[in-house]
Amino acid sequence: MSAIPTQHPPEPSLRERFHQRSLEHQRPLSIVTMAFTVVTFLCMVAARELVGIPAVPLGYRMLCALVLALLVLAIPSTKSTALFGAIGVVYELVLIGGLVLNASGVAHPLAWLLPALVVIPICAAPLWLTPVHFFTGNALFYAVAIALLLGETHPREVDAAVWTWVIAIGAPTAAVFHFGFYRFRRNHYLLESQLAQLAATDPLTGLQNRRAFVKHAEARLAALAPGARLSAIFLDIDSFKSLNDRYGHAVGDHALFEVAQVLKDEVALYHSVSRLGGEEFAVLLDDELSRALQLAERMRVGITAIERPDGHLTASFGVAEHRRGESFMALLDRADEALLRAKHLGRNRVCAERAPPFDALQPPFEAVFAPRAAGTEAGASRYRWEDFYLISHFQPLYSLSHQKQVGFEALLRGEQDDGTLVPPVVMFAPKPTSDEGALDRASHAVHLGNARRALPGDAWLFLNILPATFVADGYADQLTKIVRAAGLEPERVILEILESHGGSVDEMSRAAARYRQHGFLIAVDDFGAGQSNLDRLLRIRPDLVKLDGELIRATTHGTQQPILPKLVSLLHQAGMLVVVEGVETAEELILAVESNVDFAQGYLLGRPASEIAPPESVHRQIDDAFDVIAQGRAHQHALFESEVEPYRRELRRAADGLRAGAVMDDAFALLATFERCISCFILDDTGRQIGHEVPGPSWSKDAASLQPVANPRDARWDHRPYFRNAVLLPGEAITSNPYLSLASGRPCIAVTVAVQLASGRCVVGVELDWSARGLPWPAGE
Ligand code: GH3
Ligand code: MG
Ligand code: MG
Repeated sequence: MSAIPTQHPPEPSLRERFHQRSLEHQRPLSIVTMAFTVVTFLCMVAARELVGIPAVPLGYRMLCALVLALLVLAIPSTKSTALFGAIGVVYELVLIGGLVLNASGVAHPLAWLLPALVVIPICAAPLWLTPVHFFTGNALFYAVAIALLLGETHPREVDAAVWTWVIAIGAPTAAVFHFGFYRFRRNHYLLESQLAQLAATDPLTGLQNRRAFVKHAEARLAALAPGARLSAIFLDIDSFKSLNDRYGHAVGDHALFEVAQVLKDEVALYHSVSRLGGEEFAVLLDDELSRALQLAERMRVGITAIERPDGHLTASFGVAEHRRGESFMALLDRADEALLRAKHLGRNRVCAERAPPFDALQPPFEAVFAPRAAGTEAGASRYRWEDFYLISHFQPLYSLSHQKQVGFEALLRGEQDDGTLVPPVVMFAPKPTSDEGALDRASHAVHLGNARRALPGDAWLFLNILPATFVADGYADQLTKIVRAAGLEPERVILEILESHGGSVDEMSRAAARYRQHGFLIAVDDFGAGQSNLDRLLRIRPDLVKLDGELIRATTHGTQQPILPKLVSLLHQAGMLVVVEGVETAEELILAVESNVDFAQGYLLGRPASEIAPPESVHRQIDDAFDVIAQGRAHQHALFESEVEPYRRELRRAADGLRAGAVMDDAFALLATFERCISCFILDDTGRQIGHEVPGPSWSKDAASLQPVANPRDARWDHRPYFRNAVLLPGEAITSNPYLSLASGRPCIAVTVAVQLASGRCVVGVELDWSARGLPWPAGE
């Protein structure tokens, strides 16, 4: 947004400035002299009354005295030199009029008037501000005096004396006094101006020095109109010391001079430039930050064109915009801080001030919620942050069962002036002066400002939050206020605690309770990556868990079976809904549906965007995934059954043999030759093994890692589903789901049947190695 151009009055000329200055000087002297004259006039009135000869009524003369006194009182508030002159003229005319009235009726009026005719112009002479005032005032004074005197007739001798006094003494003396004083005052003013100029100028560059710049800037701030913008640029030449050290101070001085020329050339008439000291310069301009940044960039480019013996000069810039109520030094400090950042980031660059410490309910927050300026995207909120604006992108989340959008994750982006986007990794990258907590809080306000406009009425808003922000004192209350100010309810907001350092698990669990009290839902982001672990999950007890995208693709070692279904089942048992992120392909979507995931998010379902696009074919894609699974499940079941059936058949025959009294080795002789057979066994009705197991071709003696638990004879197995299910359905051959065999450390399945033997009720079974790739696994739980 461009600032309203500031209207500056034209600079007054030297003569005008001198007269204005004279007014300030003459004002006290004029007041004293003129007030004294009023008193003198009153004395003359009193003297005339004492004479006793009939006179003009006293009221007229007192009226003159009153007018004179009022004119004196008007002087302190007179601003213009012309008005000051007019007051002087009127004063003289009223005075001479009053004196003539006072002398009326006396025997020798000239005795009363002649001293006044001579003395008044002489006394007034030094007080006139300009020769024009002097001539006008005196001409009118004498004209009125002569007109009044003409009515009287005097002997020639008296006339000659009067005119001699006036022409030879009064008028010349007044002229000498006036011009003498005028010249003296003018010389004094010129000298004073020169001294002031010298005291305000840096001799090397001709720019304002620090003292003058600060004084000027403070005056500008004091006179700043509401809504007017003002910015400061602070710059420092890079590696200047090396220039001095290698090539001498004369070369350094010349470089300073050239830099000053570049700055002067770039700066418009009413912006001021100063050399603050050393190789540091500052510019104050009547414009907003973005214009100041552009100006600084032009200056930076201009300076890089200045040659130094070993290359070109460069300078680093910090730019800040004035904030309501702050002093000029505070503004300069913020520009200085940005300059330091520019130095840290490698010099020869322009850095903008840091955003104000983010106080959600203070004015910046209103600024966030204010719509963008005209000409930009309608209604979107954004917030100035360092060299870019913070803006929101939203990515949809789908409920797989409902096949519809249920929420949107707000994702932070930085937008530069030219429209280029800065990703969050860059914005949150550790920098010497960065404050990621402030950025995190600012992002919430920006997202909430945008969500109000962009979100459908019943959708959840997922807000990412850093652990340190999440546990920060008072932030739950503050965020609730922001949410409400944005026209939302906390119940519609899901806080996604990011996977990062900051905040112990205890603190997070206590903080989660606070946010829940306000109505927020809690999600743990990126479960399965970095810091996240099951303990953190169980203590924070989130309502939702977002699984790291990598977990979709994770498979078991060896069999390559996906682990997602089991993980989802585990999280469901712990009372948490599950979201998978990063769904990019139809296969991943199918797996998410098959794994009983609740919500999914990813490029396949919708990319992050600043505007929420209506869902297109996404529900079709999810529906297709359900169809594929329904068909695949039947097929898979049939494959699994046909793979296991020969084992079931042979196990039933072996059980019949045992019931008929055959010994174990004989009964299991054939089954123990089947390809996947690890071993055949008999368990009593307490789940303990009877006799020895009969090994098959997949029996392995080298599962060294599980050696301590390799001997099944010491164990009891009645807790295993294959035992319990067999007992529930006596006589039926039961097939278990794959499990990890303690004997081999490999996935296996068990086929078991409960039979009544001579020794009592037993479970007869065979354990099959199910670790080969490509084997069908049972569908479902
Ligand atoms: P950086 O890039 O970090 O700003 O390094 P630098 O060398 O520019 O900064 P440093 O502050 O170390 O050096 C500033 C130098 O400026 C030191 C001083 O000798 C020189 N200097 C200060 N005033 C003048 C001057 O009036 N004339 C000349 N020739 N040099 C000056
Ligand atoms: Mg420097
Ligand atoms: Mg310096």
